[in-house]
Amino acid sequence: MAASEVTGSYTGMASRADSRAERLIDLRSDTVTEPCEGMRQAMANALVGDDVYAEDPSINALQQQVAQLLGKPKALFFPTGTMSNLAALLSHCQRGEEVLVGDQYHIYRDEACGASVLGGIAMQSLITDQHGAFSEQQLLAAIKPDDPHCPISRLLCLENTVAGQVQPQAHIERLCDIAHDHQLACHLDGARLLHAAIAQDKRPAELAAPFDSVSLCLSKGLGAPLGSVLAGSEELIGQALRWRKMLGGGMRQAGVAAAAALFALESWSADLQQDHHRAR
Ligand SMILES: *Cc1c(COP(=O)(O)O)cnc(C)c1O
Repeated sequence: MAASEVTGSYTGMASRADSRAERLIDLRSDTVTEPCEGMRQAMANALVGDDVYAEDPSINALQQQVAQLLGKPKALFFPTGTMSNLAALLSHCQRGEEVLVGDQYHIYRDEACGASVLGGIAMQSLITDQHGAFSEQQLLAAIKPDDPHCPISRLLCLENTVAGQVQPQAHIERLCDIAHDHQLACHLDGARLLHAAIAQDKRPAELAAPFDSVSLCLSKGLGAPLGSVLAGSEELIGQALRWRKMLGGGMRQAGVAAAAALFALESWSADLQQDHHRAR
């Protein structure tokens, strides 16, 4: 695991470990966290409502805040990143259409091929190099011609960071330009996009700008117990809302979870900077 994935101060890990005889730092994943006292308080005091009626104030606030952070018109809260990515792919693609995605990327390798199983969506993987990227030439060669023998290439999926490695923004922009020139949409699995932003001293919205949709995990470096957010256009998020319902991700008073993420987002920049500092 790369240094930038190491988990952080506000997860409460340090203070809880201090009370133990041994000080244990678990580096298996940045998902192995516990909410700190402040996060627990935020959850306990969360304003809630029925989110299936879009009446949960904490979820509404979180969706608005993440949409703004990522520079997109709208955002939608999901229980997991896998469901957020899946709903994005189902919203972008019809049956018989194709996603182009790196062979090391989570969407291709770690989500049980849900888009193919549930959506009839083909996935063509492109071989990624040791930095987690594939080339413009590989992308161009993988986009199918308008030929009845072929699936219809519809979506490019990139990831940032990839196994802790920040993807160079200029390269991302070139790949997305190529995709858009060929009428493909672009989705970013930005599970750890905030890490990429901190590492490059860039705004998350700038990193998200080339993409039509972006999925951000709240349960990774941010230390929330659960949740992801998908951001994109009004139309795309409208479609994703129907898919989320169908996938069983329409939750009720889930503002308790959103409040944890809102708490983490109050200080994400300083906290992740400190995490990167400690990891180094
Ligand atoms: C963790 C992760 C996801 C989503 O995983 P969930 O466990 O379903 O939240 C998606 N992409 C990447 C790169 C991840 O690390």
